[in-house]
Amino acid sequence: MAIIQKKHMEENSKAHAIVFPYPYQGHVTPMINLSLKLAHTGFTITFVQTEYIHHSISKSTNTDDDDHFDMFSEAKKSGLDIRYATISDGFPMEFDRDVNFDEFWQTMFRDFPDRVGDIVERTIKADEEESSNYNYLLIADTVYSWPAIIAKKYNMVNVSLWTEPAIAFSINYHLDLLHRNGHFPYKGNCDSDITYIPGVESISTKDLMSYIRDPDIVPMLIQVLIKGFEQVKAADFILCNTVQELEPETMSILNQKHPTYAIGPINFYSDFTKISMAKSLWSESDCTHWLNSKPCGSVLYISFGSVAQSNKHEIRELAHGLLLSRVYFIWVLRHDIVGPNESDILPVGFEDLTKDRGLIVPWCNQNMVLSNSATGGFLTHCGWNSVLESMWHGVPMICYPFLVDQPTNRKLVVDDWKIGINLCDGGQVTREEVVKKIKIFTMGEKSIQMKQEIKKVSHNLHDSLDEDGSSQRNFDQFVDDLKAKLYLRRKDGKKIIP
Ligand code: UDP
Repeated sequence: MAIIQKKHMEENSKAHAIVFPYPYQGHVTPMINLSLKLAHTGFTITFVQTEYIHHSISKSTNTDDDDHFDMFSEAKKSGLDIRYATISDGFPMEFDRDVNFDEFWQTMFRDFPDRVGDIVERTIKADEEESSNYNYLLIADTVYSWPAIIAKKYNMVNVSLWTEPAIAFSINYHLDLLHRNGHFPYKGNCDSDITYIPGVESISTKDLMSYIRDPDIVPMLIQVLIKGFEQVKAADFILCNTVQELEPETMSILNQKHPTYAIGPINFYSDFTKISMAKSLWSESDCTHWLNSKPCGSVLYISFGSVAQSNKHEIRELAHGLLLSRVYFIWVLRHDIVGPNESDILPVGFEDLTKDRGLIVPWCNQNMVLSNSATGGFLTHCGWNSVLESMWHGVPMICYPFLVDQPTNRKLVVDDWKIGINLCDGGQVTREEVVKKIKIFTMGEKSIQMKQEIKKVSHNLHDSLDEDGSSQRNFDQFVDDLKAKLYLRRKDGKKIIP
C-alpha cells in the first residue's frame, strides 16, 4: 500500500507552493531561503512579496528598474522554478510603517486577506490555463491572521513558518494558560518562575516576550500575535527555524499537538550558496577591508537588528563605554535607531576619538562580519536570526534585548546555553556597566567558558544541516509528509477554485 501511494505521489508530485513572508527583514530572509531549498527539492514556488519590501530590496541593489527587478532572477537562471509576484500592503511607499505600526496593522487585518485571496486565485487560474497539473500549498508566516481561511478556501495544504525559537512558539500557543494564571497581562510587582507551560521547564516572568509583560506598550502587537496563534491551530504543518538539539523538550511537546519540524538554521542552507541574490532591505557597507586589518578575535560587533529603537541617552552611554573600554568595534547605527527625526545622537567628537579603532555603518552584511576571524564578540539585541547567526559563526554574545521575543532569546543564550552574558539586567545601560561587561567578556574564566560553549553549539548547528543531521532529516521528513498530504488532497478530488 505504502509503495503504491509513493508511486502515485511521484506521478502526481508536482507541487506549487504560494509563499507569503511577513514584511520584516528578520522574517523575509528565512522565507527566501526556505523557498530556495524547496525549489531545489523540486517544488514550484510563487514568492509573493509586499511592494514595499520589493522596493526596499530593489533600492538596496541600486537598480534603477524597480518594476522589472526580480530578486530570484539568478535562481531561475540556475534552473529553479521560482516565480516572483508583488502585493500591495495598502499604503504608499513613503508611509512609515514602523512609526505607524497600529494603523498599518489595522489596515492589514482588514484589507490584506482579500488581496492574498486574489493573488492565490490568479496564480491557480494561470496554471489551469496552461494546463499545468499542480497540487497547491500555502506557506505563510505564523503571525499572519488569514492563512487558515485562505488555505481552506482554495483547498491548499497549510504550512506555517515560525521564525523564532520553539520556546516562544509554545508560550504564544498557551496564552490562555498564562491568562488563567494571572501572567497575561502580567499584573505582579515582582518576578516569579512559571513552570506550567508545556515544553518550557521554567521561565521567569521577566523573560516573557515584551507583548505579554506589557501588552499596552504596543497594543496592536499582541493583537497580531493572538490572531496568528488562533489560526495556526488549523495549520497542517509547522516549520520552526530552530534546531532539535537546542530545544528538544519544547519541540517534542509541540509535536504532540501538530506536526512540527525543527529545520533551522534556515539562513545557512547550503544547496544554493552559489546563487547570488539580494535579500537585504538596505544597502550593505563593506566592512571586510577594515576587519582584515584587525587582530584575530579583537573586534566587538554591535547591532540592534532591523526594527528595535533605542534612545539618545542609551546610545551615548554605550558610546562612552566603548570609548573607555578601548575595544575595536563595528557599530551598526541605523538612521532611525532613535526614531525618525533625531540627529547628533553620538557624543561630540566620538567618531574622531575612535577613528582608529571603530567603524560606524548604517547597515552591513552581518554574516560577513560575524564570519570574519577578527570578530570576537557580538553585542546584540538578541533578535532570533542574529542569535542563530552568532552561534553558527561561533561568536559569543553580550545581550541587550529590547522587545518582542528578544528577552526570551536572551534567557536561552545566557541562562540555558551559557554562550553570552547580560549587558545589564533590565533598566537603562550605564557607561560603567559597558566597560565592566566588555572586560568580563574579553578576559577571565567566564570568557574562556563561553568560548568553549559557543564552539560546541556552533558544531551542533553545522552538524544539524549535514546530510544525516537532525534539521536535514526533519526537512526530508516534512517533504515526505507534505507529499503524502498533497496526494490525499488530490485524491479527495475537491475543485480548487470555489
Ligand atoms: N542584519 C544585517 N545587517 C545589519 C544588521 C542586521 O544583514 O547591519 C540582518 C541580520 O543578519 C539578521 C536580520 O538582519 O538576519 C535581523 O534579524 P533579527 O531576527 O536578528 O532581528 P530583527 O531585525 O528581526 O529585530
